[in-house]
Amino acid sequence: MQWRNHLHTGFTVGWAVFGNPVAAALAAWGALLPDKLAFGFRRHRDWTHSPLIWLALFLLMRKTAALFDVPPEAVRLALAVPLGALVHVLCDALSRAGVPLLPPGILWIGIPLYRTWDWTEEVVAALVSGAALATVFAGLL
Ligand SMILES: [Zn+2]
Repeated sequence: MQWRNHLHTGFTVGWAVFGNPVAAALAAWGALLPDKLAFGFRRHRDWTHSPLIWLALFLLMRKTAALFDVPPEAVRLALAVPLGALVHVLCDALSRAGVPLLPPGILWIGIPLYRTWDWTEEVVAALVSGAALATVFAGLL
């Protein structure tokens, strides 16, 4: 998926999950991390694209914050970054190439709904962001 689509899907899902535009912006930034961290690696979708890595980081950060009694708003902002990265990986998992469940490149998973740079990518990205925004606005009503 192209970065512009990662940005808006990360932002909207971050907003839907945390209900905070600052957390949404951090999630958008986090949504670029899997590709930025992959720079210099042999393959684009290596360990930085494993959903288990980002899910584990998210859960570890949440558990650590609970142990040290971190203020809830700070926890939300911190968790937005791995959430955005997880959104990136899950959106990439909807492409034809899929993503590795386990690093490095072991057990590839995915549901091939779109091809990158194709109109199908725009539809999938719009559906992800549309669903997230629908959740946001349903909560505001
Ligand atoms: Zn990627």
